Amino acid sequence: MFAQKQLTLPLRFKHVYTTIKAIEVRIHDFQEMMKQLYLTRDQARGVEATFNWLADELQELKEALDGKDKEALEKEFADVIAWLASLANITGVDLEKAAVNKYNNMCPKCKRSPCQCEFIKSKPNASAQNP
Ligand SMILES: [Zn+2]
Repeated sequence: MFAQKQLTLPLRFKHVYTTIKAIEVRIHDFQEMMKQLYLTRDQARGVEATFNWLADELQELKEALDGKDKEALEKEFADVIAWLASLANITGVDLEKAAVNKYNNMCPKCKRSPCQCEFIKSKPNASAQNP
């Protein structure tokens, strides 16, 4: 399912990395892999419970961001994208298509790259808005 191919690098790096091979996995391939691994279980669990698992993984990612363990951080990122793919699979959403359609080399709001929208550092806390 995953194509193994020569890593494509800018020409100026070719002399350093010509022997490096990488497994290139598109978002679509990853979502298909998750479908093969877990679709039956994800369908049985349902949308709400699968969303709750994703929310738990996001909380674990938040906790890993507070620490200094890079390996733990990578594992939490992996869990978040895995549960996101599971949720997409049971809701019939093609993650890659949706992401690229919305973020197609430009900001979806201002249509520029890099984004020129007004910079807002913090998103208002939803729980503070809805006590
Ligand atoms: Zn923008």
